[in-house]
Amino acid sequence: MSESNDVRPASGPVNAYEQFLRQELDEGRLVISTFKSPSVRASGKPLPEHAISLLTIRWWVEMFDGHAAYHLLRPARDTVELWEASAFYAPKSSGSPAPPAVGKVVARLQSNNPDDLLIAKRLIYAVWAARIPYQVPGELNAEGALGQSDWEEIDEHLLRERGRVDWRNAADPHDLLKTSDELGLFPQCSGEKARRCRANCPMGRGHFIFIDPARGLWCCGYCKINGNSDDLRAAVSAARQARRPS
Ligand SMILES: [Zn+2]
Repeated sequence: MSESNDVRPASGPVNAYEQFLRQELDEGRLVISTFKSPSVRASGKPLPEHAISLLTIRWWVEMFDGHAAYHLLRPARDTVELWEASAFYAPKSSGSPAPPAVGKVVARLQSNNPDDLLIAKRLIYAVWAARIPYQVPGELNAEGALGQSDWEEIDEHLLRERGRVDWRNAADPHDLLKTSDELGLFPQCSGEKARRCRANCPMGRGHFIFIDPARGLWCCGYCKINGNSDDLRAAVSAARQARRPS
């Protein structure tokens, strides 16, 4: 058991996903790719035929965001592979939002359990457990064999086991987290010192703004808006005005 392996959490009671992760790692059946930033990797391979398309989520690293599509493949009866395809792997000429056609294996499991979708959810958990807080998973972008409730279940377990912590534990020198809380945007943070934070986007339900409390800045890659505490207040006011029936 390697102390440096950042997929290992602190001790304490664990959920079924975490139990699966620890056991399969300990017994050497599970291999996870822990690369931190899919956006800088261009080493994708064509997605294999017969891969099951699972779901697509948004993710954040620093102030950037992107999409990651997950696919499951059984190359042999006793082996399951989780493929991740990031939009950044797509050839430039493709002009996607279309699902990218290339990806890479981010988890490989020795298992002949036939419940592929259960395994898929646990492998997606395992991959994100290795990345938080370097990357933060966001909301579901597109459903496949797995849907919104499946992603919420995975995300909820990540939240519980992977130290996404109450924003009040984060250093907040610019009161940006406090402001977002007062504005009803439900900030939440992750990581040892709670440095990675997000909150609901003021422009609508279903996605998040990324908050950098140390610098007192926030941004929404989806709405292409950003700013400081005052800008956040203004965005909330503007959104409320827009929603008010005329
Ligand atoms: Zn937004």
